[in-house]
Amino acid sequence: MSEKSTTLEDIVSLAKRRGFIYQGSEIYGGEAGLYDFGPNGVELLNNIKKSWWKANVYDRDNYVGIDSAIFKHPKVWEASGHVGGFSDPLAECKVCHTRIRVDKELGAIGVTADEKMSDDELNTLFDENRDKIKCPKCGSKDFSNVKAFNLLVKSNLGDFTGENERPVYLPGEACQGIYLNFKNVVDTMPVKIPFGIAQIGKAFRNEISPRNFLFRVREFEQADTQFFVKPHKNKEAYERIKNERWQWYLSLGIKEENLRWSQHENLVFYAADAWDIEYNYPSLGYDEVEGIHDRTDYDLTQHMKFSGTDLRYTDPMTKEKYIPWILETSMGLGRVFLAVLSDAYTVEELPNGDSRTVLKLHPDLAPVKYAVSPLLKNKPELVEKAREVYRMLKKKHGNVMWDDNGNIGKRYRRQDEIGTPYCVVIDFDTLEDDTVTIRDRDTTEQKRVTIDSLA
Ligand code: ATP
Repeated sequence: MSEKSTTLEDIVSLAKRRGFIYQGSEIYGGEAGLYDFGPNGVELLNNIKKSWWKANVYDRDNYVGIDSAIFKHPKVWEASGHVGGFSDPLAECKVCHTRIRVDKELGAIGVTADEKMSDDELNTLFDENRDKIKCPKCGSKDFSNVKAFNLLVKSNLGDFTGENERPVYLPGEACQGIYLNFKNVVDTMPVKIPFGIAQIGKAFRNEISPRNFLFRVREFEQADTQFFVKPHKNKEAYERIKNERWQWYLSLGIKEENLRWSQHENLVFYAADAWDIEYNYPSLGYDEVEGIHDRTDYDLTQHMKFSGTDLRYTDPMTKEKYIPWILETSMGLGRVFLAVLSDAYTVEELPNGDSRTVLKLHPDLAPVKYAVSPLLKNKPELVEKAREVYRMLKKKHGNVMWDDNGNIGKRYRRQDEIGTPYCVVIDFDTLEDDTVTIRDRDTTEQKRVTIDSLA
């Protein structure tokens, strides 16, 4: 069997065709940068979350989880630096008014523009390279000057007059909820530094040009951990965390050759180190799926300053007081989802000249664990027996699919495309000897086994 290379278009098409991902508000013509997870998508997403939570909370002795409110006090985003500095550099095409992200366009031609550059510095860099950058829509090279565009999304929560001076923002990143609850967790849980807090939460960004399917969207979920350590006790923990995060991707079945590390060249002033894990996305190449940041005492110092609340930790033995340093991991769930789908997507040419598309998902991630069908759907005795097997497997494994549409070959193809590890078929022999045919997704081999052994 041979395999051919995958494009992003292949993934988008399968995701839609098989109920993984739908365009947000599709019946109204769709809304840019928003996607909905379909029945198979939500199962895969939840399985990824379960695996992440297990690896980051249950498998460790010193991590706890939280789930903070989406909306937060407006000052949170001032303290975090998002109100002042969370922006992307934007230029507008003077012909068709399409907006481009200047740092990304420069990056695509090998010119590094980093987030700390001032507008003037960026404009100089942009001017030097204008002749190499074309509008993605109309091809013109006639752009406005570069302007910083803030990515925070505003809301009118609690504003009944429209005159509130300070808007309540949607979170630009989910992790702020962890900093806000650091003191609560210390005061209410049996934790001692070093310890970590994990959270999965929504983030919203006014991305100038959402694109590349789930890769750059305006609403997404992040899975974050913040590990609190004594000042200067960051190095060893950072290496441990980096290694554990890498291993987690491998535990999902992602091929190691599709992952790589990328160290940040220009660190923000407070950071001690920062690395990204990148995945080799079809059609896009390597890009960030997760950031792992050694952030020193910046976050808690800022919140202590802006809130006036003492966020220092008191060592229970020595009574020493200090602001903990933080090691952060921040992963976009949509980007992991896309990596998992892309990595599992396989087209095999079969010896008879046909081909089959199969998602070789890790069985723990597969949205459907078993598909059960009667050989013929118009034979009540087969249907009844198949229903019995279906109910038994469903009780044990949760998401088991009843699939009696089309012939057996079509059912297998359909289940291959959503990555169902096993298909079980009930036929006339089942009625005689309580055995069924079980077919393996990856080898396509079929075996005869007893119903008891299935359970
Ligand atoms: P990028 O440079 O790609 O914009 P970032 O460095 O701003 O990403 P972080 O702020 O570190 O990203 O966010 C942590 C994670 O959240 C990223 O590693 C990524 O997986 C995810 N993420 C960030 N922005 C988006 C987005 N617009 N759409 C989907 N996922 C995102």
